[in-house]
Amino acid sequence: MLLGWQSHIGKYLHKCDSCAEEFNGRKNQLYCTNTCRARCNNELASTRRKEKHSLTNPYLRNIEIIKEQMQGVDEEVISVSIETLRLKGFARKAPNNRIRLHGDLWFKIGPYAFRTIEGSKEIELTKVDDDD
Ligand SMILES: [Zn+2]
Repeated sequence: MLLGWQSHIGKYLHKCDSCAEEFNGRKNQLYCTNTCRARCNNELASTRRKEKHSLTNPYLRNIEIIKEQMQGVDEEVISVSIETLRLKGFARKAPNNRIRLHGDLWFKIGPYAFRTIEGSKEIELTKVDDDD
């Protein structure tokens, strides 16, 4: 944080954005040392990584859960109870794409698609070709 100009030494007074120590430096300087700059940048990168994973992990877990249910029946549509999937950690709200399969709306996730059946406690699962 820029605190002010110090005419007697010809430098700007700052408060370090990382350790909060005061230091003298160029106008656009944010950190007192390279160590503080690196620490701050590493924390930022770590926060961004965690944010990214919090989005992709439910997506990847859903794919694994469907894959496990679909063992050996890739050519068919199978139905599984919503409760079974939920207990395994299936997250309905995880990112997915809406697609049409034989005129019906499905949610595509990875190489699979699922849809809820109206008035039922089951979810249908199937494998889809990526060129659909
Ligand atoms: Zn510092």
